[in-house]
Amino acid sequence: MDIAIDIGGTKIACALIENDQIIDAVKVDSIIHTNIDDLAPYVYAQIKHWVAQARSVNIACTGQVSPDAVNFLSVRRKLPLQAQLRSLTGLPVTIINDASAAAWAEYVLNDHVSRKNFIYITVSTGVGAGIVFNDEIITCADGFCAHLGHTAVNIPTAQSYPCHCGRENCVEAIASGTAIAKYASQALGKTLSAKDVFTHYAEHPDIMPIIDNAATAVAELIFNMKATFGNDTVIIGGSVGLAPLFINKVAAKVQQAPEIYQVTLLAPKSGANADVIGVHHYAKKQLIES
Ligand code: ADP
Ligand code: ZN
Repeated sequence: MDIAIDIGGTKIACALIENDQIIDAVKVDSIIHTNIDDLAPYVYAQIKHWVAQARSVNIACTGQVSPDAVNFLSVRRKLPLQAQLRSLTGLPVTIINDASAAAWAEYVLNDHVSRKNFIYITVSTGVGAGIVFNDEIITCADGFCAHLGHTAVNIPTAQSYPCHCGRENCVEAIASGTAIAKYASQALGKTLSAKDVFTHYAEHPDIMPIIDNAATAVAELIFNMKATFGNDTVIIGGSVGLAPLFINKVAAKVQQAPEIYQVTLLAPKSGANADVIGVHHYAKKQLIES
């Protein structure tokens, strides 16, 4: 049996896995934004009753993930999470970025995906991504790769979109749920979530351009990736990415693009447990190859 853990900004999901199936699971609120220094013991408390039966712990984590440390970009805090959980559990620990884990779940589970090269983008609170190139997840020493939310794009507006990473016009600063909520709240003079925007105000004349710009940013990102990796498939997930109005706008923009930029857009297949399933399969592959 193996333990898989998904550490996100909102929730932490832990699973005990046997024969690639989740046989027990627990989900708790994340403490990244409230008490991040206690993250390792907090995660350990959720899984400790499984440790005696498990042979490994595999973690999908938000942020800039490297073997030395996870840099939680949104709260500007670094933790040596892999070493901490290794010493708490006494088990080998694998750690990768959560969107990369979800991309790997698609690689394993999605029959429709062109397996060799594809891009997975999640448009959610932020904009995350995983890149599969030549049957491998792209990773790097300091973990700052495949963070496609922090690539800048051109959109047809005079406005500049500052990003929390320090640059301007990042995809995340234009298309994330956080960005859509921010600009819609400014436009309508009241506090709205991205979900409110899509459910109640999408047709409002001041809101439509905000959603249009968000969809343009994601389409531009797709074109940049096609020119870089030659991938013929892009999978778009996340609650904003799955909103029909949003994905239909992205699809229309892709369709209007020149032939060389055409890609097939797919919805994710792996569902709510994508991150835990993805990191489980990724760790298994690493074990086989080592
Ligand atoms: P996470 O970022 O934790 O992975 P989600 O993928 O659910 O979670 O993304 C959360 C963002 O999606 C929030 O900005 C939220 O307001 C927005 N959201 C949630 N439900 C919907 C919906 N039905 N349509 C559009 N946006 C949504
Ligand atoms: Zn950025």
